[in-house]
Amino acid sequence: MSKQKVIALVDCDSFFVSCEQKRNPELKNRPVCVLSNKDGCVISRSKEAKQMGVRMGEPYFMAQKEHSNAIYPVADHEYYAQVSYQVMAVLKDFSPYVQIYSVDEAFVDLTGLERLYKKNYYDLGVMLRERVLEEVDISVSIGISSSKTLAKLASDKAKNIDSHIYQINMCDILNVLENTKIEEIWGIGRRLTDKMKRNGIITALELVNKSDSWLDRQVGINGIQMRHELLGEMTSPVINEETTPKSIQNTRAFGIFTSDFNFIKNELNMHIHTSCARLRRYDTKCLQVGVMLRSKDFRVFFAQKDLDAPTDFEFDISKIAVELLAEIYNPNILYRATGVVLEKIGEQGIEQLSLYKDSDSDEKKQKLTKCFDKLEKKFSKNIVKIGFLK
Ligand SMILES: [Mg+2]
Repeated sequence: MSKQKVIALVDCDSFFVSCEQKRNPELKNRPVCVLSNKDGCVISRSKEAKQMGVRMGEPYFMAQKEHSNAIYPVADHEYYAQVSYQVMAVLKDFSPYVQIYSVDEAFVDLTGLERLYKKNYYDLGVMLRERVLEEVDISVSIGISSSKTLAKLASDKAKNIDSHIYQINMCDILNVLENTKIEEIWGIGRRLTDKMKRNGIITALELVNKSDSWLDRQVGINGIQMRHELLGEMTSPVINEETTPKSIQNTRAFGIFTSDFNFIKNELNMHIHTSCARLRRYDTKCLQVGVMLRSKDFRVFFAQKDLDAPTDFEFDISKIAVELLAEIYNPNILYRATGVVLEKIGEQGIEQLSLYKDSDSDEKKQKLTKCFDKLEKKFSKNIVKIGFLK
């Protein structure tokens, strides 16, 4: 038998609402319902809106009539995609194996990280949740178990508990399955539910008590896989997507509150360096840079600008980023974090600009950055502390 895996399913809580609250912190702890930009129906609700009785899919005019004190922003999927990239970036920084399942969900293979972080798997979940909350200001629920199907089931349970972390251990599996209706299992739709019920199968435990050959006849290969996944055997690995990201984001809390411009600038330059190294790993360049500042009281300040030409070079990006930082910086505010967002990745930019390109200096930049990357590969991440930090 293969070595047992530990899989987490990280699921953002009421994702669209959480994004709206991240953008506008005044919406926190209030009844918020995000409306579809197509038909105006409610597609995401805050806890408070749920408690008020607003229903999923309810049209705006009805919800508004009954619950006029709720707030109804219209979905901004472009922004939600940006926040999603930020969440996924934290997960990818945490584990090398991350499979993005939807805009607000990803499987993370935690196997072996117990030793790396010197924490048990439950505490790793707690740590990951705290990191996403701290760095992206998004609350997530995390299910942990030994297969994707069980991790998914655990994440559904995690949503309803205060810790937002739920782990299904090997010894608890049968007990959990006994208390799980088959329609709650990931991948079992309405039709299959009806079919199973006609065969007297109501709970997940009754499903796993069937033989592989019976499930093969009734459902096919997927039925067998489902049974093994429910018993805690992983049948499909967490597939790492190595496609070029649309956006690269790096941010981290300082650990202190500060108004010191030079300190913040140094932190920003460190993130720029990490982001550029990532661009180079994907052999691509970016054409837009964004700078984020988060205040002690969680207000977010953001400015972005297009670059003159696509680049993967720290010094080019830093020059613009520090100007942006100066624009949004206020010496009277205490800050807790800064970050950089590189966008328009892989875009060519305007051809004419190449006329102004100095190919000699380009070559020098390339040599220098290759040197950074080699050093870091050999030693450790962020060993390179670049002179421009001063
Ligand atoms: Mg979700």
